[in-house]
Amino acid sequence: MSGDGDKVMDRYEREAAMPDPARMEVLIEAMTPPGPDHLQGLEQEALSAGVPIIRPQTQNLIRFFLAVKRPSRILEIGTAVGFSALFMQHYAPAGCRIITIEKDPGRAEQARGNFRKFGKGEESGRENIVLMEGDAAQLLREIREDASFDMLFMDAAKGQYIRFLPDAIRLLAPGGIMITDNILQEGEILSSRFAVTRRNRTIHARMRAYIRALMEEERLETLLLPTGDGAAVSMKKANL
Ligand code: SAM
Repeated sequence: MSGDGDKVMDRYEREAAMPDPARMEVLIEAMTPPGPDHLQGLEQEALSAGVPIIRPQTQNLIRFFLAVKRPSRILEIGTAVGFSALFMQHYAPAGCRIITIEKDPGRAEQARGNFRKFGKGEESGRENIVLMEGDAAQLLREIREDASFDMLFMDAAKGQYIRFLPDAIRLLAPGGIMITDNILQEGEILSSRFAVTRRNRTIHARMRAYIRALMEEERLETLLLPTGDGAAVSMKKANL
């Protein structure tokens, strides 16, 4: 067989030997020690109500970076009912302040209730999780504390990420970590745009544009991971 033919065969063999992501997910879930009761309860409640929240693999990824970065300020885009904000608060150092943005009024209301019930405040009684209600594209512009967030979690409408990116970079501290969830969109991002249904083409194009923007952005160093529904981990370079 020609050299090229060998390469193709090698690739097929490697692909055949690749771990099945669904089985990988089962293994990771089975190996991960359960979190505290209040997070388990909230997770079950959200899943039964059909609220999309971070999957176990993404939880592990976030936990890992919370341990590495030990952030004192986190910005989250996409609160839903507050599961991931409370999750981050649980594993972040004491006193870490979290700003989280949600545009759906019903979800924002539920999240506020969950923060009151399960959130940790300061001794002064100040809440450490602050919810901003409204469209992130607008609200992000209003946050003026440039370069002050050590971690940023992007988990809102996937087609909007590209719009949030300039403010996300502005707000991230040098050395700060931004995690973007669901970059693979259930695998659709791996397919050509022609293989995607017409309805999903815009979001497919926007997500591809977002991934390209992350990879080409000189102020960021980005790693794309097949974790969960795909995640991008970007670090804002410290010496710009
Ligand atoms: N991070 C949450 C968790 O894991 O518990 C899940 C967030 S859910 C996947 C995405 C949320 O982003 C939805 O509740 C949706 O209403 C909100 N969202 C979508 N577009 C938004 C926007 N432009 N501004 C603010 N929130 C938005």
